[in-house]
Amino acid sequence: MSITQRIDLDGATEIDWTNLPWGQAESPEILRRLQRSFQLAQEVGRIGLFEIDMRTGVTYANPVFFEHFGMPRDRMCLSAEELRRMVHPDDRAAMRSFLLEMTHSIDLGGVEFRAITAAGDVRWISVRSRVERDADGAAVMAYGIQQDITDRRTAEDEVRFIASHDILTGLANRKLFQDVLKRQMPSASDNRPAGLILIDLDLFKQVNDTLGHPIGDALLRAAAGRLKSLLPTDALAARLGGDEFAIWLPGSSSAVADALADRIVNLFRRPFLLLGNVVEISASAGVAVAPHDASDPDMLMRVADLALYSAKTAGRSGWRRFDPGMDNAARERQQMTQDLRRALALGALRLDYQPLVGAGSRSVAGFEALVRWDRPGHGLVPPDQFIPLAEATGLMVSIGEWVLNAAIHEAMRWPESLRIAVNLSFRQLEDGDRLVAAVAAALAESGLNPGRLELELTENGLTQAGPDSMRHLHRLRALGVRIAIDDFGTGHSSLSRLLDFPFDSIKVDKSFVAGLGTNEKAGALVRSIAALARSLNVNAVAEGVETPEQAMLARHDGFTQIQGYLISRPMAGGAIDAYLQALDTAKSQNGTL
Ligand code: C2E
Ligand code: CA
Ligand code: CA
Repeated sequence: MSITQRIDLDGATEIDWTNLPWGQAESPEILRRLQRSFQLAQEVGRIGLFEIDMRTGVTYANPVFFEHFGMPRDRMCLSAEELRRMVHPDDRAAMRSFLLEMTHSIDLGGVEFRAITAAGDVRWISVRSRVERDADGAAVMAYGIQQDITDRRTAEDEVRFIASHDILTGLANRKLFQDVLKRQMPSASDNRPAGLILIDLDLFKQVNDTLGHPIGDALLRAAAGRLKSLLPTDALAARLGGDEFAIWLPGSSSAVADALADRIVNLFRRPFLLLGNVVEISASAGVAVAPHDASDPDMLMRVADLALYSAKTAGRSGWRRFDPGMDNAARERQQMTQDLRRALALGALRLDYQPLVGAGSRSVAGFEALVRWDRPGHGLVPPDQFIPLAEATGLMVSIGEWVLNAAIHEAMRWPESLRIAVNLSFRQLEDGDRLVAAVAAALAESGLNPGRLELELTENGLTQAGPDSMRHLHRLRALGVRIAIDDFGTGHSSLSRLLDFPFDSIKVDKSFVAGLGTNEKAGALVRSIAALARSLNVNAVAEGVETPEQAMLARHDGFTQIQGYLISRPMAGGAIDAYLQALDTAKSQNGTL
């Protein structure tokens, strides 16, 4: 059918009478056919048509119109009150102002609203209409068309949901969370406070690395589920990224926020059952309250993050409320990082060396390089303080490379028989390609016999560095370098996993050595480690030996080497020649006695 019909979106349906392809427009037959095709268009296009008598509010409409509201198609009209009741309560204000405008000010307009159908469903309806006025300008009739746009709105809602939510957990994403924070942030004078809780899963990386991504994903989903189960109404939970979650508590006092943080941390102590695995992790949380702790969203996020950081560093599975002292500590850390970076650039770091000697012979087997930082205005900063900072700020890899080269450079001056032990950070092992390249280059440039270099990695570092560690260690060993496990006994790793690593020495942590002779448990552990080393045919080193009794017991228990203040404190490189000389002299004197 080639009828030219134009549906005028401004309201009424108009037919272009001038361009009809057949006969006289006035002919009853043609009019009938026109009417039929017009009706067909309404049905196929699902277009509702209506006329409203603006003085009475009575609405006359076509069958499709009534269908949109889930009413019988054969209705003819409905009252203003009936119409009002079918508009969703949330959209009634919008509808009222639309009708007011149509009555008083504009001739053409449109509105989208949710209709509640007779069956109770919610449908989205789009209306466009045009008003006819009398000579005085008073609205007489309104003509309009309407369409059911539920599908479009649903699709739009979905897109909006995806853009504002984390697909894995269904929680809000960072963007939505920040938007809500911005909108609901209490002002400085507000006496209705709001709480922010930041949550971070402890050990998530390890779960992901050792048990695989499907379990990691399942853990994140389960964690989100636990958070949701504790959520008060009005609260918003988000996954900010990785294993970081956040909860926004509008209208909540700090006591409420604290209590929730406490419940979250407690709930996360319970094991998770994931795809047939029992997974035990924990969560740490930081709490900040607006407007008390911060007056804008960025600042609030920052201080809650400081509280979280403080909870993490105080040990896992705890929560902290922000206090201004944390801010000072953060500023101090920042200053320290800056100073440390400068020290590295200016060559102001140096190394001390502590001898490792045979447990029986006491002859020097080598030295361990220990980094020293004399911070201007602060004195000597212990490595236990600045190494973790360097690890957290990305400075560690450069520091580690400097230590490696400086230590090898120093060792080149020593007798061939002496080894040099260098500590590695897990950060260096994480970037295995760079580490292997740095070690290979340092060996090539110095000409050091690779067998003289021993790299020490702490037990904890090995677990932290992730699943590729093993591969990197094998590559290092292929260069001819030796590997030692440091601080043995302090980690939480399983022994069987540790024994998979290719290593040449075990250094028992000094806390156990300190217990030798006094603490039965420590003694038993030290003995079993020595026995283990013997059976694996690797070196057993007791470090932190301070008393002759500890040295005696260590030797008796089967340790091959000892290290500690009893033998020597760490010394500057420049003191090594004299130290070795003095030992030689003592030996030859003993020999002549
Ligand atoms: P570590 O590798 O276990 O080094 C041994 C630490 O114990 C050294 O502390 C050493 O001075 C100390 N020590 C030695 N003998 C005794 C003793 O008889 N009694 C006691 N109580 N302590 C003793 P230092 O130099 O403060 O180093 C602390 C830690 O810092 C090191 O522990 C190591 O983990 C880390 N570190 C030091 N230098 C480096 C480095 O260049 N790179 C990396 N990644 N870590 C380093
Ligand atoms: Ca060490
Ligand atoms: Ca150690």
